[in-house]
Amino acid sequence: MEKKYQSTRNKTIQFSASQAILSGLSPDGGLFVLPNLDDVNLDVSTVLDKDYQEIASLVINQFFNEFSENDIKKCVKEAYTNTFSDEKITPLKKVGDDYVLELFHGSTCSFKDVALSLLPKLVNLSAKTQHNTNKRLILTATSGDTGKAALEGFKNDPLVDMIVYYPNNGVSTIQEKQMQTQDGGNVSVVSINGNFDDAQSNVKRLFHDEELVALLKDHHIEFSSANSVNIGRLIPQVVYYFASYAELVNMDEIKLGEKIDYIVPTGNFGNILAGYYAQQMGLPINKLICASNENNVLYDFLKTGEYDTNREFKKTSSPSMDILISSNLERMLFHLSGGDAGYVADLMTQLKTTGKFKISDELLKTIQETFGTGYATDKQVAEQIDKVYNEKGYLLDPHTAVASYVLENSPEKKEKTVILSTASPYKFVQEVSKDIPDLAIDSAQDEFKLIDELEEKTNVYAPSQLKDLKHAPILHNQVIDIDEMKDIIIKQVGE
Ligand SMILES: *Cc1c(COP(=O)(O)O)cnc(C)c1O
Repeated sequence: MEKKYQSTRNKTIQFSASQAILSGLSPDGGLFVLPNLDDVNLDVSTVLDKDYQEIASLVINQFFNEFSENDIKKCVKEAYTNTFSDEKITPLKKVGDDYVLELFHGSTCSFKDVALSLLPKLVNLSAKTQHNTNKRLILTATSGDTGKAALEGFKNDPLVDMIVYYPNNGVSTIQEKQMQTQDGGNVSVVSINGNFDDAQSNVKRLFHDEELVALLKDHHIEFSSANSVNIGRLIPQVVYYFASYAELVNMDEIKLGEKIDYIVPTGNFGNILAGYYAQQMGLPINKLICASNENNVLYDFLKTGEYDTNREFKKTSSPSMDILISSNLERMLFHLSGGDAGYVADLMTQLKTTGKFKISDELLKTIQETFGTGYATDKQVAEQIDKVYNEKGYLLDPHTAVASYVLENSPEKKEKTVILSTASPYKFVQEVSKDIPDLAIDSAQDEFKLIDELEEKTNVYAPSQLKDLKHAPILHNQVIDIDEMKDIIIKQVGE
């Protein structure tokens, strides 16, 4: 039977997978979820001998069975052939007693590439399935990595236009260069005088702006989203949990069926939620540990049950996790409250009006059975990068270092643990070279000199796509105020 998606806030809003992928957000502001996760299963013993693409097809089939197996296979093949610099797509490295799952070997060097290599194919397949010939306008709020990965995924797609908003002074120099130099005739990139939460909240609001929706309709355009609010962006992230578990079994590091932990550097709660979906499909996961930086709103929530965004927004050395309003938490609340859309809608109204909500003790207990948590300050992150490099010869980016620190200092650590590594250290080269004093690198240098020097001194391969940015012309350098976000859309549609 075809699996239907519903809004986290209203069970009467039911969409097919293709409709949900095309819409991004539910019309009531909720997120699309599969109401019953008992419907998705994958026995990991059946994928031990399979490669990444085969596992991806099996996972996607479970969630999006509206599409034919053949169509899914085709999308997966296009997405993951010659697009990653490692043939395993997401290679697993043993570092000390733990494992690092490197998710950053795609075209823009962050884990966002894994899903955003596939999402554009799913969007086009969805449009075909719906016989929908409208163009999509994809609005993307980015904390640094989604923007570039989505731009690469959708550039020059004849059926898509795209606008990316990123926080001015809120991303790393390399991240900014990546976006400012983006080519493709169908893309706009602007930085906003605000933080990521401002960008994300306003994008969500603009989706439902009546004047814009009418304007778009006149031009046969519809909004869509490449953020992890889009279910088509989330599901491809389930795949590497299965692939990494299978690899651990194949490497004889664990026995089939043995439960392990995953620790995830978390911002919008998408990556870790994909781990929850993997667990619900049957993957033997004990705990999913949410690692936060100094914007530790999720840490406090998972400890106390109160989610309170009324606090100072901090700019940290792990900017892609500088988020106070984690969209995908809403999906987790839905699933763990037993699919209580009314309850979720109520919490989300409280969040909107007061900036906070508190869940019941009972629900908190249920959540804590699966989700552990910890956080790291910038100082601890810097020390961890230094320590892991000196002791284990492994170069961490600041986001991965948050997780590495939390894991090392977790009193509850029992199981074998996989650390999800979400970005290449070279994307944050200023921070990383400053953090390892023994390398004696002058971190005030030009970022491209830093990349060369860090590579030379550590012998850790620096991705050519980052080095090549040095010669790429700047094509986008507009800075706007938050209230101008709408004007950019009007301008882009009018052209
Ligand atoms: C986006 C991002 C994160 C946070 O992932 P979520 O799915 O938003 O929790 C962590 N690290 C890096 C490098 C990222 O780009």
